[in-house]
Amino acid sequence: MEIFLRCNGCNRTLQVSSENSTDTCQNCDTATDLTLSDAILKHNVVDVCPRCEKSVFYIQRDFNQQVGVGIMVIFALLGLVCVWLDYPFYFYVCLGAGALLDLLLFALLPEITICYACKTAFRDANLNPDHKPFDLHVADIYDNRSKG
Ligand SMILES: [Zn+2]
Ligand SMILES: [Zn+2]
Repeated sequence: MEIFLRCNGCNRTLQVSSENSTDTCQNCDTATDLTLSDAILKHNVVDVCPRCEKSVFYIQRDFNQQVGVGIMVIFALLGLVCVWLDYPFYFYVCLGAGALLDLLLFALLPEITICYACKTAFRDANLNPDHKPFDLHVADIYDNRSKG
């Protein structure tokens, strides 16, 4: 699996392969130690976070919200051009096509695992059946803890 974590030094996102137990940031030279569990190493399943050692995760589609919105905007503009050209019906066709493309992209994208506490993301992992989609209540608990 690929692990995406924030650098302790400069807060940049680093990409680490699960074969490495330390990674040094190319930007600020800060080394980040990773404690990789057996499940991660042997089964490619995330159970304990290698960065913060907590075990609360959520599953999310690897979907770029900005790309999704961008697609809708482009199709809406196309629709407006159709209205301007006196084909108002095609406005709805364009909106429909945009929404469909968004849905299609969403369905094709892989699911990633994200740590509630430190937001480290795990791509190409075998999904842990214990992990659920994002829950604001759980996120609240961990946000408060990290502040306190
Ligand atoms: Zn750094
Ligand atoms: Zn974590």
